[in-house]
Formats: sequence, structure tokens, C-alpha cells
Amino acid sequence: MSSYRPYQHIERRKSRQIHVGKVPVGGDAPVSVQTMTNTLTTDAEATIAQIRRAELAGVDIVRVSCPDEESTAALAEIVREVNVPIVADIHFHYKRAIEAAQAGAACLRINPGNIGSPERVREVVKAAKDHGCSIRIGVNAGSLEKHLLEKYGEPNPDALVESALEHAKILQDHDFHEFKISVKASDVFLAVAAYQQLAEVCDHPLHIGITEAGSRRAGTVKSSIGLGNLLWAGVGDTMRVSLSAEPEEEVLVGWDILKSLGLRHRGVKIISCPSCARQGFNVIQTVQTLEDRLAHVQTPLTLSIIGCVVNGPGEALMTDIGLTGGGSGRHMVYSAGRQDHTIPADDMIEHIVDLVEKKVEALQAEDAARKAKAEAEAQAVLSTAL
Ligand code: SF4
Repeated sequence: MSSYRPYQHIERRKSRQIHVGKVPVGGDAPVSVQTMTNTLTTDAEATIAQIRRAELAGVDIVRVSCPDEESTAALAEIVREVNVPIVADIHFHYKRAIEAAQAGAACLRINPGNIGSPERVREVVKAAKDHGCSIRIGVNAGSLEKHLLEKYGEPNPDALVESALEHAKILQDHDFHEFKISVKASDVFLAVAAYQQLAEVCDHPLHIGITEAGSRRAGTVKSSIGLGNLLWAGVGDTMRVSLSAEPEEEVLVGWDILKSLGLRHRGVKIISCPSCARQGFNVIQTVQTLEDRLAHVQTPLTLSIIGCVVNGPGEALMTDIGLTGGGSGRHMVYSAGRQDHTIPADDMIEHIVDLVEKKVEALQAEDAARKAKAEAEAQAVLSTAL
């Protein structure tokens, strides 16, 4: 049986599709995972190295701050040296936006209402159109416009949504529709309510996030609650987990949220028990070691690591490969839900790594054969038609 079919199917909100470089966002595109660099953009070498680490972790889109001319000057080299599309984080200055578009940014994070005169807005929109950039409107509860704060008295969902729609209208009035919107807040309830409200009144793709979520652990929990709620309800086309941690950590957490909801799959998903006195081997240590040793795997695969027979055979039924602690120093290995053989504790790690890598090779070969068959069939149909 396949372990990748989610028990609960999530019906995603129907949004229009835009592109951030080669990555489609919205429509039927998978929810993309983003992060943002924290190096000085002017230090292109360090920024490129950080983006490459995020790429290894599975990032789809990376945002880079462009606070000054030196930063947009460094952007061209950064864009050239990485494989993922780059979003230039601008905020206010229209000239930086134009420079970033010229430097090859795939998307500009700028709120048109903050650019200034209509002439400047026109210039930015023209640069985006000329260079194939999309735009992200990024409303944040912490920097809401004065007139909306006066009107609503506080940054509530109505205010965030109104701000987003005001910015959107400016772009639409310039016949620009390649944009996505975020309405972030550090308060989970406020952010979720604002996104839900926005999702109901427009079909623009939504970039979701809980801003300034906090440290690695607390921020992960907060983001999982906020983003998990939205994604479960079908809201969200691209996401960033905002952590006071390295970008690749944000990417891994983003992927784990998507994997938990069955929205996307990548790499080895380990199902493991918390362990107790019944464990036949050290579950915590084994899981940590296997997580590190198998971090390079990108093909989706499930692996259960369970300390004893209480839950081991049951979990193994639902995973591709299973390991269950047994008595007398030998442990049971399951393949596709069936008990296959036993192994001694000493060889356990190497043996499981080897099994996973072989399974990955087999899955990749199956996939390649399926694609070759489909191509051959398409070719045959084409030849018949000719
Ligand atoms: S599966 Fe076994 S070892 Fe793991 S927590 Fe449950 S009883 Fe303990």
C-alpha cells in the first residue's frame, strides 16, 4: 500500500495562478516553501552560500533584502549563481524596485501604496512588466497605514484586509495582475482571521506566514498552529515560516508542516515512538542518527522506527520500511508492511540506511520507466496522427 495518500483530503481554495520565476504560485501549483536570507546582500558570496544551503533543504523561492543601491547591485550576481527564483525585498524605494527588476529578481516585495507618486508607481509596474517580475503585496500588522489605524483603532483583520485590497487596486488600475498578497501578524488569531477574510473576498494567490514567530522551538509551534490551520482549511499558495533561526531551518519546518498535512512530500518521513522502558534499542538516538544520515534523500518515503512490538507492527503496516525493537538484541525489519527479516543491534543504522537508499533507487527507476513509457505512448499517438 502507498503511504503517501493522506487520510484526509484537503480541498484547496481556488486561486489564480501567477509565477515567481519558474515557480508557479496559486491555482493547482503545490504550496511553495520560501525563506529569506539574513546575510548582508552586499556580501554576495555569503548570501549565495546561504541560498545554496536553503536549496539543499528544499526551498522553492528565496527573498533577499535590498535596502540600498549596493544591495541591488549585488543582486545580479546572486540571481546568476543560484537555482531558485529570488524575491527582492524593497518596501518603499521605487528606484530599488526598478534596479532589482533589472538585476533579474523574479518578484518584488513592495506595496504600491508606499511607493509615492503615481508616476513612480507607473515606473515600477513598467519595470516589473518589462522584466517578467511578479509582485508581492506584503501587509503587516506592525506597519499598518495611519489612516487604517485611525479608522479601526487597532490592527484588526478588517484593517489588514482593507490595506491589502487598497494596494491590490493600485496594481489592478495599472493593468498588473501578477501579484500575490500576504497579511501577516505575529498574533496567530489575528493573522489567521485576516487570511481567512481575505481568502473569501479575492482570488489572488496568498503568501501565508506568521510574522516574527519567535525562536526555533516556540516559532515552529506557533507557525504550525497558524499555518497548519490555514492550510488545513485550504488557504495558502506559498508560505514562509519566520523563525529566529537559520533560513534552512525555516525551510525544513515549512516542509514538515506540508508533509504533516499530506500537501507535499519530500525525503524520508520518520514515524517514531517516544520510547519507554519497553524499547528494544535507543529510539531517540537512532532517530536522530537516521535523520542526519538520510537528510540527502529527496524521494518521498516513509520509515517507522518503533521501540517495541506494542506499536511496531501496526506502524510498519503504514510505512515503506519499518524497524521494530525485539528481544534478545535482534530487531525486526519490515518491508511494505510485512515482516521481512531480523537484524542485530550493531548493524542497525547501516542496514536501515542501505535499505532506504536501495528503495529510493528502485522508486527512481520505476518513475523513470513510467515516464519513458508515457513518452513512448505519446510519441506513438503523434506518429499515428501524422
Ligand atoms: S512503542 Fe513500545 S517502546 Fe515505543 S513508546 Fe510504545 S511501548 Fe514504549
